[in-house]
Amino acid sequence: MLYSVRMRSAQGGAHEKGGKHISGAERIVADTALDKNVLAMVHRATSHSRGRADFISIKIEEIHRENIQYHPLLPVTFCEAGNVQEGRRVAQEELMRAGVDKIAVEKGFHHILALKDSMRGAMLLDATTGERMDTLESRGVRVTKMDIEAAETYEKTLAAQGLVGEHVREALVLASKVASCQNVVAELCWSDDPYYVTGYVGSKKFGYQRIPIMKERGNAVGGRIFFLKPDSDMEETIKYLEEQVVLIKGQEERTYVAK
Ligand code: AMP
Repeated sequence: MLYSVRMRSAQGGAHEKGGKHISGAERIVADTALDKNVLAMVHRATSHSRGRADFISIKIEEIHRENIQYHPLLPVTFCEAGNVQEGRRVAQEELMRAGVDKIAVEKGFHHILALKDSMRGAMLLDATTGERMDTLESRGVRVTKMDIEAAETYEKTLAAQGLVGEHVREALVLASKVASCQNVVAELCWSDDPYYVTGYVGSKKFGYQRIPIMKERGNAVGGRIFFLKPDSDMEETIKYLEEQVVLIKGQEERTYVAK
């Protein structure tokens, strides 16, 4: 039996009561690994570098196999950047190469840089105008119900490329689900963990483009933007991102891609 496990945590009360977002996590796990994963999420919420959560919500739902879609893991490429300015310039160029208009790229950066504190989800922007398309304000759209199908092989493959730690493990799975959404042109992300300065641009066209530095060390504000095709149906897009169960297949075990 499989379960979707989702955690969100905040400090100063629940998110909806104005609490500051601390951390979140989403996994799809077998019943035999449920307790271990729930415990790890509690630990993460109470020992995060953004602060100690005093509100933790954990949601566990059984997954029916017939509802699972399978999508491929995005290939990883490594971009070069020696400082924040270079990192952001690379991200801007790659977003435009993936099909996001310059004005939308500029507005996307402005949106993240204008945040006083991190959101718990992502902003959806029109890839041609940069206008915000969702109405979820500071909550944003939280991508959930996804995981890697074969965790052990995945972790080994990542480690062989020098990619270790939870950040990249989770971000690559999330980016792969986001890129599988038919309305998404590209994604921009950098972390809200003050000690993790790496970011990425994700797209179906060019995969997961890892950028070594996107913000100054110690800065606890990060964000995510999904740039969408201008005529995207919001209800359908948000439903896919928040509710469709997706398992990501690594390169080796990729045999079937659900449409
Ligand atoms: P992280 O990469 O986990 O440090 O998150 C960076 C930012 O991405 C957060 O501040 C949120 O705004 C956003 N984010 C994190 N997790 C998700 C998610 N599952 N779905 C959508 N946006 C997310």
